[in-house]
Amino acid sequence: MKTIPDRYGKYGPFGGIFAPETLMPAIEELENNYSRISRNREFKNELASLLADYAGRPTPLYLAENLSRYTGCRTYLKREDLAFTGAHKINNTLGQVLLARTTGKKRIIAETGAGQHGVATATVAALMNMECVVYMGEVDCERQKINVYRMKLLGARVVPVATGSRTLKDATNEAIRDWIANFQTTHYVIGSVVGFHPYPLMVRDFQSVIGEETRVQIMKKEKRLPDYLVACVGGGSNSMGLFHPFYGNRKVKFIGVEAGGRGVNTGYHSATLSKGRKGILHGSLSYLLQDVNGQVTPTHSVSAGLDYPGVGPEHSFYKETGRAEYVYALDRDALEGFHLLSRIEGIIPALESSHAVGWAVKNKKRFREKDIVVICLSGRGDKDLMEVARIEGSM
Ligand SMILES: *Cc1c(COP(=O)(O)O)cnc(C)c1O
Repeated sequence: MKTIPDRYGKYGPFGGIFAPETLMPAIEELENNYSRISRNREFKNELASLLADYAGRPTPLYLAENLSRYTGCRTYLKREDLAFTGAHKINNTLGQVLLARTTGKKRIIAETGAGQHGVATATVAALMNMECVVYMGEVDCERQKINVYRMKLLGARVVPVATGSRTLKDATNEAIRDWIANFQTTHYVIGSVVGFHPYPLMVRDFQSVIGEETRVQIMKKEKRLPDYLVACVGGGSNSMGLFHPFYGNRKVKFIGVEAGGRGVNTGYHSATLSKGRKGILHGSLSYLLQDVNGQVTPTHSVSAGLDYPGVGPEHSFYKETGRAEYVYALDRDALEGFHLLSRIEGIIPALESSHAVGWAVKNKKRFREKDIVVICLSGRGDKDLMEVARIEGSM
């Protein structure tokens, strides 16, 4: 098995560092720091104990027997919804903020869309007594007021971004600008396996705890590896965290579920791998939703966490090499998954995770009765209750 990425941060043709000269000193310092720290035993031990005692890991791998009747196979849920702060994002922010502290940084910055990554970053910054600034598009600040309040409670400063579409990609541009000016004192925490090298690698490493735990847990319960791993794909971090530790196990099939929105031919979707073309966004070559001039096109999804025009370069590599299959679930399928899991298992899933659940139920013909399927339940649905109620007009 060839190790990916190579030393240039390339996954086949994807990934890399497409960055302006002014950004290179910051990237080079981070690369050096990360390659040193990631092999350091003390760092690894400290992170492991934070994941256990602060974030509540390992999260359970739960055989969902009621859901299994709807998928027609043995269906397990990897319960990232039970990680502290309610989603997998904490795995990455704990790793990155600890890296920042270990390498002498005093200040943390992050971009956020729906606010989930901002909250997870502000949480760990509070824990580690670091100054924290979160860039968030004005439109998103308005849409996600509660998360803005949450970040402020945690001691972070939220900077509304008024440029461009005033959403996630503009917030990211603003964070990168800050980082260029302040990298000597500041670490920039990216929230998914996207952006220039070494971020896709680093975030994958920190999220791989999901798949590593799953391997141990499934071997204990079933004495064999799963047939399928299914996870939703926004930027691609919960899915990569689940998939990557099984990369060399060719019989374990990977299925990434993107947000099909109102339909992938309507223009209202975020199905980057299904419908995008190769292009560069935030320093990395990957699939991208873009128009004929290469301008990033607006996206839509019922779940804010999947509403993103790019995707991690390693996913593009998995797609091109056939290692993973990428499919999509419509808003409607996700809402069905959301209701179904709530009703039959008593678990209210995040709308993002509901895409994976909804897809598996709708495509039960794929599975044989003996198949073992693990679905990543990336987060809990409390944050989505108001939105679902609004859509369905029940409040
Ligand atoms: C942010 C988020 C996602 C999407 O991000 P990935 O990087 O694709 O994992 C999925 N689920 C939940 C609950 C999230 O908060």
